[in-house]
Amino acid sequence: MSVFVYRRYDFALLLSACLVLAGCSTNRYAKTNKQYTEQVKALAAEIRQPLPPPLPAPTATYDSLMDTVVFSPRTAQREQPWVGTINFNLRKPNYVVIHHTAQDSLEQTLHTFTVPHTQVSAHYVIGRDGEVYQLLNDYLRGWHAGAGKWGNVTDLNSVSLGIELDNNGSEPFPDAQIYSLLQLLEKLKTTYRIPAVNFLAHGDIAPTRKNDPSVLFPWEKLAERGFGLWPDEHLEEPPANFNPRDALRIIGYDISDLNAAIVAFKRRYIQQDLSPELTPHDLQVLYNLYLKY
Ligand SMILES: [Zn+2]
Repeated sequence: MSVFVYRRYDFALLLSACLVLAGCSTNRYAKTNKQYTEQVKALAAEIRQPLPPPLPAPTATYDSLMDTVVFSPRTAQREQPWVGTINFNLRKPNYVVIHHTAQDSLEQTLHTFTVPHTQVSAHYVIGRDGEVYQLLNDYLRGWHAGAGKWGNVTDLNSVSLGIELDNNGSEPFPDAQIYSLLQLLEKLKTTYRIPAVNFLAHGDIAPTRKNDPSVLFPWEKLAERGFGLWPDEHLEEPPANFNPRDALRIIGYDISDLNAAIVAFKRRYIQQDLSPELTPHDLQVLYNLYLKY
């Protein structure tokens, strides 16, 4: 009997200790969670305002053909008529950008994303153990891509979701983490109908500034499941007039720094030898991929 009572007491003690610990871990971000809600409310109030800002008042510099035809003072000063349509919804993300955090711990990353001076964030962070943390609603614009370009898209933050993998940049990505990533990508791809070619590396869109995720990232495994493309096993010799510069541009790379674009391409598809030269094999891989775009 006494043993039973002792055990019950022991269990109750353990349970309360767990509750306290759980409370501490959720409360750690209570302040920024609250601030997040306030910021979302402010954005909601902003889009509740239907009226666009008034047109600029006409100035003497409009003294031209344009002035008399389009920008007559009467037209410019008049308020734009507002007619609210009933057919709309929220804009959807159409790209996913994958990152490694290059930090030593998950805690460090979560801290980085919840203090104002860093001015960086991501929609999701995935721990080494596969735990997925969401930091931002998918419909909101995260600050993860920074300056970059893919094809003609120059504001990746406006059209993409950012996923950060807890990884110091030189270690392998554990199976549990990749498994969670694949599950998350499946959900995002289905929900927002994101095409396979729009799953990108941070290094793809900012080749002169970024090198994440590292060569250890399993892009082939992702491509097998429809996230990104992968070259075929059987490769062909490109034709004599094949231009690698054009091929990289057509795939999406910013070729204003060609060497950086080549390194980014090799980091993802060759995954060894990150020199800015294309070997005959690299050219075959590039030609093979280029034909898929
Ligand atoms: Zn990154």
